[in-house]
Amino acid sequence: MDGIRASAEPEQPRNPTCQECTLTNDEDDASAITPRSNVNDSSLRARRVRRSKHKLNNRNGRASAEQSSSEDEDDPQTILEEMRHDGEAALAAGKELLHDASDKAQKAIKRFWNRTSFHLLPDWLKDNDFLHHHHRPQIESFSECFKSIFSIHSETGNIWTHLIGCILFIVFAIYFFLLHEKFPVGEKWAFAAFFTGAIMCLGFSFLFHTVYCHSEKIGRLFGKLDYCGIALLTLGSFVPWLHFGFYCKENAKAIYIGVISVLAISCIIVSLMDRFSQPEFRAIRAGVFCALGLSGLIPTIHYIAENGWTKSLEEAAVHWLILMGFLYVLGAVMYACRIPERWCPGRCDIWFQSHQIFHVLVVAAALIHYHGVSLMANYRLNLGACPTPERTIMESIQHLGAPFTA
Ligand SMILES: [Zn+2]
Repeated sequence: MDGIRASAEPEQPRNPTCQECTLTNDEDDASAITPRSNVNDSSLRARRVRRSKHKLNNRNGRASAEQSSSEDEDDPQTILEEMRHDGEAALAAGKELLHDASDKAQKAIKRFWNRTSFHLLPDWLKDNDFLHHHHRPQIESFSECFKSIFSIHSETGNIWTHLIGCILFIVFAIYFFLLHEKFPVGEKWAFAAFFTGAIMCLGFSFLFHTVYCHSEKIGRLFGKLDYCGIALLTLGSFVPWLHFGFYCKENAKAIYIGVISVLAISCIIVSLMDRFSQPEFRAIRAGVFCALGLSGLIPTIHYIAENGWTKSLEEAAVHWLILMGFLYVLGAVMYACRIPERWCPGRCDIWFQSHQIFHVLVVAAALIHYHGVSLMANYRLNLGACPTPERTIMESIQHLGAPFTA
């Protein structure tokens, strides 16, 4: 009966079958929510599969496809399901567009960065709030970071003070080893320790100031190397002074070099710890390194007590050593207290900030020390070999004028 009644009734415009309806709706949806994007292909395919499964289940439970279609369309669960899928697809498309826009913005910043104010910097780039403007923003490109050394910003002075210093000590080292080819091996090692410490310290510092705006991770890594460099320079400075100052006292020399090496290694270990690189540890950082520098006072006092003040000045260049120590401490105090920018905030943004002055004092102290240990080496090597008991007896006999026979 139902079949006869159906054939007798005038033909109504046919609704699409369940499958046709699904396909049509999907295509419309896809064109609406995925503009020029192929990202949602997989999600659309997944939707179609889910819907097909859903319809198939409905079909198994119902008598006819038409009945299933009309009931399916009115089913609140199905409508909710479709809305949820549509929402997910729209969200995915939105995220993709946002990601694209962010990528383009990042690429533009890498190539066309502008100097920015302190308060606009990300927290990890905020180091000195007395420097108000002219900071580099985050530049996630090593090549752009290195190009930035040729532009003027808050790090220009820090970069060039230690780049020039590094080049200077490389030239000195080459000149020294070419000129003193016939130097004894021990003396060569003593000077090699000094040149290595100076070049590594200034080189690490130059690299740190150049790339620390790349990203937080890179900045932290090179910050650690920067502090390691300071410990290496301090150690490298003491080695030649101890070598020539205690030239004929092997035990004292070994003990002092050993103790200062342990302190320098401790500084390096502390520098490599993550917590230590935070700005709030500024004073502690300066204190640890001052302790390493001041540890050199003990062998200096030892030398003066044993040889007297006049001989210490003539043979051990103690006055140059004291001047070197003073410059390091002065630089560290200015750096820790942020002098002079704390007295005129915003006016040392590019030049004459405490960090630059600290850098200049480090280079000056290293040059002064090089001069001092060169004088010591010259004096010591002119004296000849260390006295041995036999030599001392022979010299005493010759001094008394007594005839010497073997
Ligand atoms: Zn520095």
